[in-house]
Amino acid sequence: MRKLAFGYSTRCNIRCGHCVASEELPDNRKMSLDGAKTIIMEMARAGVSGISFTAGEPFVYLDDMVELIGVCRGQGIYTRIVTNSSWAKSRERAEALLSRLRQRGLCQVRLSYSRWHQEQVPRENVLNAARAAEAMGLDYFVSFVTDFSEADDPFEAFLREHNLKFFPEPLIYSGRAETFARNDLFTDFQANRCAMNPYLSPDLDMFACCDAGSKFTRTNFFYLGNLATHSVSELFEKSETHPLYNHIRTMGITAIASFAGFKAREIVKYRKCELCKLLFDSPESLAKLSKAAEGELTRWTR
Ligand code: SF4
Ligand code: SF4
Repeated sequence: MRKLAFGYSTRCNIRCGHCVASEELPDNRKMSLDGAKTIIMEMARAGVSGISFTAGEPFVYLDDMVELIGVCRGQGIYTRIVTNSSWAKSRERAEALLSRLRQRGLCQVRLSYSRWHQEQVPRENVLNAARAAEAMGLDYFVSFVTDFSEADDPFEAFLREHNLKFFPEPLIYSGRAETFARNDLFTDFQANRCAMNPYLSPDLDMFACCDAGSKFTRTNFFYLGNLATHSVSELFEKSETHPLYNHIRTMGITAIASFAGFKAREIVKYRKCELCKLLFDSPESLAKLSKAAEGELTRWTR
């Protein structure tokens, strides 16, 4: 199933201390509305069945979003909007704005929430947005970004107290969070496989990874190409047939790191995107893994 994170614009109305897109914000790059519609039509022809409209803040261009969601619905594409809820200042306002999107076919809203977001957006906004979604039968969930420290306990307690549907999301130590102090990890030796949904930027650059991987600037390992010179199908096929990407999806980062010579007790010290960066954003390491990708690494199975 082909899915994609659609970066219509880099513009955001707040500035979170942990934002991955640090060098892009407050830069205001944006696609043209007509261009975005054409791309969505091409995506539908290429078999894309899910689009997530993501950072910057999609509600900054609400009128455009209403149109784009309508185009997606016409093509049978499942849609999600990722938002910081800054617009949900009251329950009434939340219902008024969300219902515009709902009427055009929006399938799900993902509400970003963390102690960094909530320095600028009252957490009651997230509650307003969630309650408004519930009231109109729109699927929602809260994405609770956390570094798993005690500082996040009151934020989690608020979600539980209000019985909101939420999922903890590990903080990604990239962008503005690159220099944050890390807590020690206390976890098992995990496979760390990634589904790797592609990300499309406002400049029409497409990447195979929609998180930290689009910032691996030394090797540009996850860069697929630009839609000005390649078709949507070509870039999806590139992502789906790339041997190393497929090893990340099936074997996982942990096993690849072990294959590459990392000690087991070293591997568990890293978050998965950090480990991914060490493996694939180093020209030397990437050259070795690329060489092994269709041979030795393919046989590295249990
Ligand atoms: S709301 Fe999202 S895009 Fe905007 S600054 Fe915060 S993390 Fe970045
Ligand atoms: S582990 Fe690698 S592929 Fe997965 S999200 Fe992180 S950077 Fe992207």
